[in-house]
Amino acid sequence: MYKIEKILIGTHNRGKFKEISDLLPEKVEKISLNEFNLKSPKEDGKTFLENSEIKANFFCQKTKLITLSDDSGLEIDCLGGEPGIFSSRWAEKFGNFDNAMTEILNKVKKSNKGTEAQFICSLTIQWPNGKKITEVGKIKGNISQKKGINGFGYDPIFVPKGYSKTFGEMDYKKKLSIDHRYIAYKKLEKKITAYFE
Ligand code: IMP
Repeated sequence: MYKIEKILIGTHNRGKFKEISDLLPEKVEKISLNEFNLKSPKEDGKTFLENSEIKANFFCQKTKLITLSDDSGLEIDCLGGEPGIFSSRWAEKFGNFDNAMTEILNKVKKSNKGTEAQFICSLTIQWPNGKKITEVGKIKGNISQKKGINGFGYDPIFVPKGYSKTFGEMDYKKKLSIDHRYIAYKKLEKKITAYFE
């Protein structure tokens, strides 16, 4: 009943789809939302956790497939945690990610209160029978000038603590082995590994 042979990756974001697919065991069949004509639900939760649960529950109910959804974003200390759960909505508001990053760099400079930030990811796996598990991962770091063309979203302006390169400059495999999604997945994996057998 709980065995995971195939899983719907409940995201329309291509960067997230690739990262989540690469974290899951190779033998598990990964299904994309491209196979369904489904829009995302309204993300009206107040936290990353609530929003990942809203998405996983919605896509699972619509498709009747075991679903793994992510809600993630960038919290910047000197901006009071913004853009936070509004990370993708900021890109819409300012036209695209490049503009949103420029806006962030200006705001951070103006605040003059340091560059500390963190990426957060909440991952929820939802089974059609109602069972669900959620885990949250965080990685601390600093906001830097835009550097690098790898990755997606805000990767070019985030340098993880202990490193000198932005996520945008980092090799894809390196980012995938340290980021907030990886940390959340490792916690989740402990609880679901038996269902992959
Ligand atoms: P949502 O979870 O789909 O609402 O969107 C989260 C947004 O946060 C993404 O569209 C990205 O802008 C940003 N984000 C989340 N994770 C990452 C990451 O690993 N790198 C860069 N940006 C990210």
